[in-house]
Amino acid sequence: MDQSKIDALRARPVSPQLHLIDGKQVPTSDGATMDVLSPLDGQVLTTIAKGTTADMESAIASARAAFDDRRWAGQPPAARKKVLLKWADLIESNALELAVLGVRDNGTEIGMAIKAEPGSAAGTIRYYAEALDKVYGEIAPTQSDVLGLIHKEPVGVVGAIIPWNFPLMIGAWKLGPALAMGNSVVLKPAETASLSLMRMVELAHEAGLPSGVLNAVTGEGAVVGEAMGLSMDVDVLVFTGSGGTGRRLMEYSARSNMKRVYLELGGKSPNIIFADAPDLDEAAKVAAHGIFRNAGQVCVAGSRLLIEASIHDEFVAKVAEVAKGMQVGDPLSLKTAIGAVNSDRQLDQNLGFVKTATAEGGQIIMGGNRILRETGGYFMEPTIVTGVTPDATLAQKEVFGPVLAVTAFETEEDAIRIANSTVYGLAGAVWTSNLSRAHRVVRDVRTGVMHVNTYGGADGTVPLGGVGQSGNGHDKSLHALEKYINLKTAWIKL
Ligand code: ADP
Repeated sequence: MDQSKIDALRARPVSPQLHLIDGKQVPTSDGATMDVLSPLDGQVLTTIAKGTTADMESAIASARAAFDDRRWAGQPPAARKKVLLKWADLIESNALELAVLGVRDNGTEIGMAIKAEPGSAAGTIRYYAEALDKVYGEIAPTQSDVLGLIHKEPVGVVGAIIPWNFPLMIGAWKLGPALAMGNSVVLKPAETASLSLMRMVELAHEAGLPSGVLNAVTGEGAVVGEAMGLSMDVDVLVFTGSGGTGRRLMEYSARSNMKRVYLELGGKSPNIIFADAPDLDEAAKVAAHGIFRNAGQVCVAGSRLLIEASIHDEFVAKVAEVAKGMQVGDPLSLKTAIGAVNSDRQLDQNLGFVKTATAEGGQIIMGGNRILRETGGYFMEPTIVTGVTPDATLAQKEVFGPVLAVTAFETEEDAIRIANSTVYGLAGAVWTSNLSRAHRVVRDVRTGVMHVNTYGGADGTVPLGGVGQSGNGHDKSLHALEKYINLKTAWIKL
């Protein structure tokens, strides 16, 4: 990657962002806009359309019309595949532009953004493009005078609500399988990370996606997101974000048409280090990266570090050493390891958690403060708090910031009990050289993803989803397709 190209893109003015409804850029019905503040300097980057309920309803109507006349689902699979593959190519050929725009909007360090955002999104769209003609119905083993056909149909209109931490990656996790299965989609990006995702939606149209099949409305979650949740014409709602919003979406569903709701929520994922880990230096490096990259704004972040008591002090020192070497600052510099916190609201929340942690007896080993105030941006030091008891707020609540909660344990049973002592169950890891122990811990820790002697790595072939209050349903892999199809039985007398 080339710093000069990044710097040229950083200086580009950003046009005001409109909605994309029925293939056209349209302003809000009442003309209202919202300022987009860049977390890099706290300055206004541009504006986005501040959607109204009427805008959302018009986007849903457009998606419904596109679904009903089968302009997308009715195309031969090879034609749909071609459009999606072209879209993936366009995402790739515009990767740097997309990544830089996204970073100016959400603050992720560019080194991570380029891989995790356009890079991942293109791969995801391509994966589901390739899958779309490999998923088909079944013939049931019935008695011989009937034919029982099981069709797999698209569900209709999918509503997708996307968070701000990885808008392209997570957007593609929803859009890829939803569009591959022939659905129409209405998308609602996050207020503080709409720009790159809206550009990705434009690229879908450049790739040949028919108008109305993919519509996107920007604005406040509590307005346009709520209108989507309460719509009688949205058949499935898919969401990644906070537990509070997830809970609301289920309520909206219950109060409207009982649409299916799939949630990918937060986590408080345990990273468990046994004294017999194969390489403690590697474990420390991965532990630090697993919580501090993207300033901890990662749903699967290893935010609880559980360390066997005999190596506690030594291991904490190693993690702190790695963290000290991780440069916090300008997210558009290739040297930066930890970018900006997404918003001042999020930064205040992070600092509040640190204060509570010390009030509850935790010791700050490093960090704890806002830094680089002179930039006007929202930056926070990587923060390590030790002596966090399993029932402390910092062990129980998701921070979604660069704050690591450290707890010592004595035995394997202890580690598993502590790991399972939150309402969440998204990810986790165990570091050990003992094969049997690795399998026992994988089995007994209640999560959707467990890593062994690594953290955070996975590709699109494996599902990602939580248990407990980390959510339901899965993104990624062929299993994600199930959210976007209905099974229909045809029972035919022969
Ligand atoms: P955070 O608090 O970290 O911003 P949210 O869950 O609020 O996380 O945000 C994730 C997404 O949910 C964003 O696109 C946001 O606009 C949307 N959202 C927020 N509140 C609501 C709501 N009441 N109804 C629907 N969507 C919402």
